[in-house]
Amino acid sequence: MNYTKVADLHIHTDASDGAYPVAEVISMAADAGLELIAITDHDSVAAFAGLAINSRIEVIPGVELSADLNGREVHVLGYFLDPEDAEFLAILKTLRQKRLARAHTILRKLSTHSIHIPPRDVLDLAGGGAISRLHIAEILIDNGHSANLHQVFRDYLGPEGSAFVAKPHFEVDQAIAMIHRAGGTAVLAHPHNNFTFEEVASFAAAGLDGVEAYYVRHSARDVRRWLDAAAKLHLVPTGGSDFHGRRITDTPIGAMRVERKVVEELFERSGHNAVRRIS
Ligand code: AMP
Ligand code: MN
Ligand code: MN
Ligand code: MN
Repeated sequence: MNYTKVADLHIHTDASDGAYPVAEVISMAADAGLELIAITDHDSVAAFAGLAINSRIEVIPGVELSADLNGREVHVLGYFLDPEDAEFLAILKTLRQKRLARAHTILRKLSTHSIHIPPRDVLDLAGGGAISRLHIAEILIDNGHSANLHQVFRDYLGPEGSAFVAKPHFEVDQAIAMIHRAGGTAVLAHPHNNFTFEEVASFAAAGLDGVEAYYVRHSARDVRRWLDAAAKLHLVPTGGSDFHGRRITDTPIGAMRVERKVVEELFERSGHNAVRRIS
C-alpha cells in the first residue's frame, strides 16, 4: 500500500552532482512526506559525515560507485557503510581526484570542437563536490550547445559523444567488496534491461545484497523482471528516485519510494556498524 512507502533510497546532494546541500535535501524530503532517506552521492560520503544528529527525518549513509563489466558501466549503491572508515574515505578521495582530472580532459576535448568552457566554471558549479558529467552537461545546455540532457549525452558526454572520457572503473566484485569492507550492503543501481539474469546472478555470487528494482525510469516490465530476479537470487529489492534537483533534471525527490522494511532488510545484511541519524 502506498502510504507505507516512506523511504527514498537513491538521492544526490551537492557533495556530488546534486544541486542542493544536504540540509535542504532533508527539508525537501520531509515536505514530500518521506520518513527515511539514503544519501547516495557519487564517490563521496561527505554529506552524511557533515550532518547534524537531529535531522527532521531518518537518514542513512550511502554511496554510489561506478564499476565496469566488460566495458559497460555498472553503478553499485552502498548502504549502511561506516562513513568514517579511513580506508574507504581514502579510496573515495582518490576517485574524486580522478574525476577532476577527467573533467579537464573532457573540457580539452570540447575545445577541439570549438566549445570553450573555463575549468573554473565547472569547479564553481561543483562547489567542492565530486565533479560529474552532469555539471558539464548543465553548462553546455546553459550555453546553448545542447537543448536537453538527452542531446548533451548523445552528442558530447555519453559513450558515443565527441567529448566522451571514461572514468577509471573497478570490477563489479571489487566495488561490492569495497562496500562490504566498509561495513555496508551493496545494491545494483538502476539495472533497466542492461543485464542478463546470469550476469546479476554472478554479482550475487560475488556478494551483491540487493537490486534497485523500483526506479523512476524502469518500465513495468523492468520492475517485474528485477523483483523476480531478486526473489530467485535472495537479493533485497530496493528503490529510489535518483534525485539530483538540477535545473536540467526533472525527477522530484520521493518520486520512487519503498517500504521501511526494505531498509530493515538492508540493515540486517550490513556490518551493523553504521550510524543512522534520527530526529
Ligand atoms: P559521471 O559520474 O561523471 O560519469 O556522470 C554520470 C552522471 O551523469 C549520472 O549520475 C547522471 O546523473 C548523469 N547521466 C549519465 N548519463 C546520462 C544520460 N544518458 N542522460 C542523462 N543523465 C546522464
Ligand atoms: Mn549523478
Ligand atoms: Mn547511477
Ligand atoms: Mn545516482
